[in-house]
Amino acid sequence: MVPLPSPWRADFPALAALAAEGQTYLDSAATAQKPQVVIDRLSQYYSQGAANVHRAQHLPGERATRAFEACRASAARWLKASDCGQIIFTRGATEALNLLAYGLQGQFQAGDELVISALEHHANLLPWQQLARRQGLTLHVLPLDEHGSIDLDQAARLIGPRTRLLAVSQLSNVLGRWQPLDALLALARAQGALTVVDGAQGAVHGRQDLQALGCDFYVCSSHKLYGPDGVGLLYGRHKALARLQHWQFGGEMVLHTGYVDAQFRPAPLGFEAGTPPIAGVIGLGAALDYLENLPGAAVAAHEAALHAQLLAGLSAIPGLRLLGNPEIALASFVIEGVHSADLAHLLTDQGIAVRNGHHCAMPLLDRLGISGALRVSLGLYNDGDDLARFFSALDQALGLLR
Ligand code: PMP
Repeated sequence: MVPLPSPWRADFPALAALAAEGQTYLDSAATAQKPQVVIDRLSQYYSQGAANVHRAQHLPGERATRAFEACRASAARWLKASDCGQIIFTRGATEALNLLAYGLQGQFQAGDELVISALEHHANLLPWQQLARRQGLTLHVLPLDEHGSIDLDQAARLIGPRTRLLAVSQLSNVLGRWQPLDALLALARAQGALTVVDGAQGAVHGRQDLQALGCDFYVCSSHKLYGPDGVGLLYGRHKALARLQHWQFGGEMVLHTGYVDAQFRPAPLGFEAGTPPIAGVIGLGAALDYLENLPGAAVAAHEAALHAQLLAGLSAIPGLRLLGNPEIALASFVIEGVHSADLAHLLTDQGIAVRNGHHCAMPLLDRLGISGALRVSLGLYNDGDDLARFFSALDQALGLLR
C-alpha cells in the first residue's frame, strides 16, 4: 500500500492524541477533527473575555461582534455568496433545514408538490415530510440509478408544474456520489420551484460557487468543515430570503415590539433569534480561514488518491458489496455472510473508528435491502497508514467471522 502522507496531519493535534490511544479515525463524514488554529481561536475568545454580540457597546462586546461578523464575511467568501447578508448562522445543518421548512410554509397550498430524493439524510427528509403532512402537500421522492445518482429521466418526469420546491443533497453521506445538481436545479427552475441544496457533505470536499450553482438556498455544517459543533450555515439568494417567514422569536431579531404586535428584522439577523453560538461561529471563522489558505488542488489530489486506495483495498475483499459507486470522501459496504454490527465490533476492538448503522438514511437502506452498513470516511488529515491499519484490522476481523 502506498504511504500517501498528509501534509496537513500535524495541523490537527487530535490525530496524534488519538494515535497515542491506539485509535485510527476514519469517521470524518460524521464529524471532523479540528485544526490547532480553531482550538486556539476558541481558547482566545474565552480567555480574552466572552461577551454577547450585537448588543453591548463595551470593548469585549464590540470585539466579539467584530469577530462574529468577520466569520460571516469569511463564509460569504468561502461559498462565493454575493455578500454577507446572504449568510444566516444556525445551530447546525439540521436547524437550517428546519428553518426553511417552517420559514417557507407560507409559500405552499394544499396539493402543491415537494420533491426530494431517495438518498436524503433524515435532516433533509423529515422537515419536508412533516411540512407535507402539516399542509396537505405531496412529497415526491426521486429514484436513484444503479450508481447511486439521482436518475435524471425520472426526475424530468416527477418535477412538474405543481412542484413548488426541490430539496436535494449535493453529496450523499452514504453513497459518496456528487449529484447532478446543475440538471436537477434547471428542471426545478423551469417549473418556477424553489431549490434547496443540502451541502453538509459536499461543502467539505472542494470549493463552492453558489452564485454559479444558482440554488435558492444552500445549507452546510461547521463541525464537518473542521470547525466547532453547534453551528450551521444557511445561504439564501436575496429574493429567496425575502420569501421566508420568521420562525424563532426572541432577542435581537425584532425591529420593534409592543405587547401584541411586532416588526421583525430581515435576514440575516431576523433569523438569528436569541444568543447565537458565538464561540462556535468565531471558531468556524478560523476553520474557514484555515481552509482558504490551503492549496485546494493539492488537498483534492490527496483526497482522491486516498479514496482510490480505499476503493482498491475494498474491491479485493471477497463478498464485499459497495453501496453505490462512490466518487469521493467515503465508502459504505456490507459483506456477504457477515453482520455489519459484528464486524464493527471487532474493528472497534482494534481501535478503528468507523461508523456502522443506517447513517440517518433509513429509507435509502430499506431500498437497498439492508438494515445497516459500515462506512469508512476520510478527512484531509488521513493518510495511507490509516488505511493500512484499517485493512489489516478488517482482515483480522473477517478471519474470525468467516
Ligand atoms: N445532511 C447530511 C448529508 C449530513 O451528512 C448531515 C450530518 N450527518 C446533516 C445533513 C446534518 O448536519 P448537522 O449535524 O449539522 O445537523
